[in-house]
Amino acid sequence: MGDVERTDMSEREWRERLNDEQYHVLREAGTEPAFTGRYVDNHDEGEYRCAGCGEPLFDSQAKFDSGSGWPSFTEPAAGAITEHADTSHGMRRVEVLCAKCDGHLGHLFPDGPGPTGLRYCVNSAALDFKGRK
Ligand code: FE
Repeated sequence: MGDVERTDMSEREWRERLNDEQYHVLREAGTEPAFTGRYVDNHDEGEYRCAGCGEPLFDSQAKFDSGSGWPSFTEPAAGAITEHADTSHGMRRVEVLCAKCDGHLGHLFPDGPGPTGLRYCVNSAALDFKGRK
């Protein structure tokens, strides 16, 4: 998928652009079942881009094995994501979205390793990995 300069695509345009799983996660704030995503165990070097708009979101250097069943990162690319309070499903969580297209990516938890102490828990379906040559 190429870059998208506009972020005001209609739901019908998103439907055409995304497969069902990507649409459910990115546009309906869905969650893929744990350990089913294609990037959970990806250890290749490269860049994780938004599956909706192509914006670079996370680098492989920030990825770690959380055991949660979803790709997990200690930090996003600068300015790449926005955060929203999410009180759905009876929980207080921080939702993370693509800053460019507002696509739902996953949630942010304060139990990550290293200096940030953060865990960005992201659905594989929201990501598009590009390996470094
Ligand atoms: Fe995006």
